[in-house]
Amino acid sequence: MLRYLIGILISLLALTFIRAIWGIIQKALVDEVTSAVKDGPAQSSAGGTRPAPTADTTLRKCVTCGTYKPESAMTRYGSGTKSVYFCSADCEKKAHS
Ligand SMILES: [Zn+2]
Repeated sequence: MLRYLIGILISLLALTFIRAIWGIIQKALVDEVTSAVKDGPAQSSAGGTRPAPTADTTLRKCVTCGTYKPESAMTRYGSGTKSVYFCSADCEKKAHS
């Protein structure tokens, strides 16, 4: 009977131990992923499953005609959240006229 109780106690302890280890592993993985994504536009990690945007494939809207194009194909003015994008030299001229 005592053996049986000790067996249950040990398995409970083992379970708690495994859960703790698993929690640490998960936290380490999440930390690694979030630090890898940090280079993107600044956003809190509360978002969770946001796909990591890369500079070449992020679509930007031309402020003049509304066309969406990859950021690398556009002319950019300004920096950070105040940047504006033009799809072509024509649109750039229109915006300045
Ligand atoms: Zn345009």
